[in-house]
Amino acid sequence: MASDAKKILLVEDEKAIRDAVAAYLEREGYWVRSVGDGQSAVEEFEKHTFDLVILDLMLPKLSGERVCRAIRDTSDVPIIMLTAKGEVEDRIIGLELGADDYLIKPFSPRELVARVRALLRRVRAESEPQLEVLDFGELVIDISGHKVTVGGKEIDLTASEFKLLTTLARYPGRVYTRMELVEKVLGYDFEGYERTIDSHVKNLRAKLGDDPRDPTWLYTVHGVGYRFEAPEKPADDADAEDK
Ligand code: CA
Repeated sequence: MASDAKKILLVEDEKAIRDAVAAYLEREGYWVRSVGDGQSAVEEFEKHTFDLVILDLMLPKLSGERVCRAIRDTSDVPIIMLTAKGEVEDRIIGLELGADDYLIKPFSPRELVARVRALLRRVRAESEPQLEVLDFGELVIDISGHKVTVGGKEIDLTASEFKLLTTLARYPGRVYTRMELVEKVLGYDFEGYERTIDSHVKNLRAKLGDDPRDPTWLYTVHGVGYRFEAPEKPADDADAEDK
């Protein structure tokens, strides 16, 4: 195995799925550490550095939800949640907890690998230097520094939330459909994942302190998608720009 292999923590209590997924990922060149319960997941995560986490929601000892929270306390590592078929609300909960993506069982290992690749590619693209700062006064998005501040205070966004915000904010006023946002933010073209975007927008609004009923930045375009609006700058800012 190449020493620069991406390291994946796989957390799944069903041994058959765990073994199959681990074997598939290893064949694709990833380094995989697999564990079968939530407690071991948290312990492994503290011991090693991982590039990505694949996390089942229903786990013995400590639930996937609790594991996700524990990881998010210290890290913005990409997380893919696995949920059983029909656990619709559960998968939404997963995204609200800060997972970047989810897959519903049963899934093909090939699809999982495609998601892993897309997520790792996205994280890499985001870490490449792009000298760009979007300054909307109260809200400043430092794309090169991967930093967002509201009123001078830095806010903590997941990779997906950051990508969503920068996608919308690059073109204020332009309406993006949910499907477009799925492609741009999640990095693949897959029907039926529009609700993922709704969850990310909800999280993003909460973190920005943007009221959906009276938004400053993120507007819902009913039946279509979302758009970003740059508010008018205060008068003294406008004066400063004229000088
Ligand atoms: Ca399970």
